[in-house]
Amino acid sequence: MFNRAVALMDLSPGLEEKIRVCNATYTVRFGVRLRGSLHTFTGYRSVHSEHMEPVKGGIRYAMGVNQDEVEALAALMTYKCALVEAPFGGSKGGLRIDPREWDEHELEQITRRFAYELAKRDLIHPSQNVPAPDMGTGEREMAWIADQYRRMNTTDINAAACVTGKPTNAGGIQGRTEATGRGVQYALREFFRHPEDMKAAGLTGTLDGKRVIVQGLGNVGYHAAKFLSEEDGCKIIGIIERDGGLFSEDGIDVEAVHKWIAAHGGVKGYPSTTYQENGATLLEAACDILIPAALEGVIHMDNAAKVKAPLIIEAANGPVTAGADEILRKKGCVIIPDMYANAGGVTVSYFEWVKNLSHIRFGRMQRRAEEARNELIIAELERLDDMLEHRWSMTPDFKAKYLRGSDELELVRSGLDDTMRKAYQDMSAMWHSRDDCEDLRTAAYLVAIDKVAASYRAKGL
Ligand code: NAD
Repeated sequence: MFNRAVALMDLSPGLEEKIRVCNATYTVRFGVRLRGSLHTFTGYRSVHSEHMEPVKGGIRYAMGVNQDEVEALAALMTYKCALVEAPFGGSKGGLRIDPREWDEHELEQITRRFAYELAKRDLIHPSQNVPAPDMGTGEREMAWIADQYRRMNTTDINAAACVTGKPTNAGGIQGRTEATGRGVQYALREFFRHPEDMKAAGLTGTLDGKRVIVQGLGNVGYHAAKFLSEEDGCKIIGIIERDGGLFSEDGIDVEAVHKWIAAHGGVKGYPSTTYQENGATLLEAACDILIPAALEGVIHMDNAAKVKAPLIIEAANGPVTAGADEILRKKGCVIIPDMYANAGGVTVSYFEWVKNLSHIRFGRMQRRAEEARNELIIAELERLDDMLEHRWSMTPDFKAKYLRGSDELELVRSGLDDTMRKAYQDMSAMWHSRDDCEDLRTAAYLVAIDKVAASYRAKGL
């Protein structure tokens, strides 16, 4: 995918190669004494590009983690950060482990030891390398990592900025957990503001009433499906999980399925829907929007031709293989690429990092000042209202809504919305401005690589 994009660019061969390669990958094998014996774990932290520092990228816990995957995901982070203008280079980490095999106390020991190994080499550091959650990790693991770093760097005043995605009571930011799913929602809203792009997918109208299938009801998939159904009128007709898929043309209650999974460990047995043991076949069901939000490579050469969705938004990283991408493009399917679609996470991570470095919550200084100013306007409007003997009046909830200053969550959502809109506009403009740019993915690479190249050139490379 990178090669397709650079073939359309005018980069010097040296610079092209410099951007393509992964700068460094650190492999660590460490032992932890658990359940009476020593267990050895393998972990990675890869740094793709340091054209900006710190470098940023999640840490994933999964059995499939390997060097190639970590390096590819680190590269994707470089381009993702460039596309959404988050001032970071790209990195990624992974630990080869099935987190479901270990209890909480054991996971804490493993995570702390992994964090120790990385922090010791500045691969976790507020100004060098800042991890975040990814598949199989969440706020809990990030809190352990932050605490481990703090124990090793007791006088570092910026210690909290060594990792993002922390719980709010441990230096996190409001809206981080929902951020990637929220970003998927904002991305789709922006897509539906672009008639030319909708036409390419053969879609009309708005998000309201669109039939959606989502794969993976984890952090990203759950939030995306929840917001799209509760706030935009989408109908979630299919949910695919590890143990199978659920289908109902009438729409599925996302919140209820989420609770069902928490109680039963899977979707099987959930009432009033059709259960499909081989859930992946639902990727081929007719719908308006397909949201793969679980893992990579799920749409491949063998099933791509059967996918009926006219629009795919890659909430997961790399869910469509390069071969499948080609088949889908030829079929006229529009793909909103991962580089952009799931950038909500890193965007809000950026806000969290800034919050940690500034040591103050967003909105703390301005909120009441904003309210005081708004009160002046309301008082003036009320005075006019009196003068006109109440022939004119404000709508009932206008006053309460207008008076309220923005809190951290509103500011985070506003910053995220702005970021997702702007990045989509850049990508879409690139797509339509060049005859040789065939799709949004190539456009995203063109915009991102251009920015990375400019940054290298500014350094005299
Ligand atoms: P998660 O672990 O919270 O959720 C993954 C979900 O997918 C789980 O519910 C799991 O049961 C399900 N799943 C696993 N294997 C499956 C299969 N074969 N079929 C169907 N469902 C399956 O992970 P997440 O954080 O939601 O991440 C999902 C994807 O989004 C990953 O590709 C990740 O790299 C990407 N992503 C996550 C973030 C973030 O902020 N969490 C940010 C950017 C990208």
